[in-house]
Amino acid sequence: MREALYGGLDALGANRLLRHLRRDHVAVLMYHGLVPAGSGIRAWTMVDQDGFRCQLSHLRDHCDVVSIAEALAPGRRTGHRRRVVLTFDDGYRSVYELAFPLLREFGMPATVFVTTAFVDTDGMFWYDRIIGALQDTRIDALDAGAFGLGRFPLAARSPADRWDRIQDVLEAVKWRAYDRREAIADWIAAQHPIPDAIRDRFGMLRTRDLREMVASGLVEAGSHTHRHEILTQIDGEAAGETIRMSLQELAAMTGRAVTTLSYPNGDHDPAITACVARHGVAAAFTTRPGDWMPGTDPMRIPRYGVSAFDSEERFRAIVSGLAGLVQA
Ligand SMILES: [Zn+2]
Repeated sequence: MREALYGGLDALGANRLLRHLRRDHVAVLMYHGLVPAGSGIRAWTMVDQDGFRCQLSHLRDHCDVVSIAEALAPGRRTGHRRRVVLTFDDGYRSVYELAFPLLREFGMPATVFVTTAFVDTDGMFWYDRIIGALQDTRIDALDAGAFGLGRFPLAARSPADRWDRIQDVLEAVKWRAYDRREAIADWIAAQHPIPDAIRDRFGMLRTRDLREMVASGLVEAGSHTHRHEILTQIDGEAAGETIRMSLQELAAMTGRAVTTLSYPNGDHDPAITACVARHGVAAAFTTRPGDWMPGTDPMRIPRYGVSAFDSEERFRAIVSGLAGLVQA
């Protein structure tokens, strides 16, 4: 339904017009990981590599893909088209294995926001453990009463349906304290072992992957904190510590000063933005959709999330800013 609307508006020139009207703005796109075409993995964070290639072709034809540093310094602007910044959250190995070759092919810069405690480990994020455990499980329901979470139906008619069920679990677990969240994910994964193929797809970057990408000059490393804590849920001292550690470790890994950050889950408040700025961060990114405009607070730069479920029509509308208008 909405796809038809986006397609129709595109045919009428709406995306072209918006890209022109908003040529002084920047659309920052937020990705997470990629999966090979036909992998069977269904998570909104994991975009199909073939789809990603189509998206880069669209960007090459209609926008100027720039680095965060270029977007921060409008005076040095060279192009005349709407600008796009590519970002990847969390630090998945698939950014190196599947996205980096395409970034090189297209000559497009990107920033990967790394959760430093996970680099070089077999660790999986709590939500990936839950997705991995429940994606193909045959049970009809998950009884999480022991954790005060109640019962979640899992019976599904299709993979899309199963994903909706899993999202209900993720949404309920997300708001628990850090240790509680980890314990629930461990408990679910213990009952429903995560297949190796899925575990592999959600794997994290290694230091050598990051070094190679940064050395290419095309990819920049940014902080996504040390342990992916939701910064507004922990005390100020702990927040300062996870920010400091991630910046320091990334500088050690890449040999470059790191001055960008994305807030885990997008959550921030005035104390957090002040803390981030104090640690030398020049640009910090949220998950709130919107354009990065000349007057935007550099500690709260909005981003458009690109999900595995976005059609080509919707992607074009995200990039032009049309999707934000249609949903408003
Ligand atoms: Zn994240």
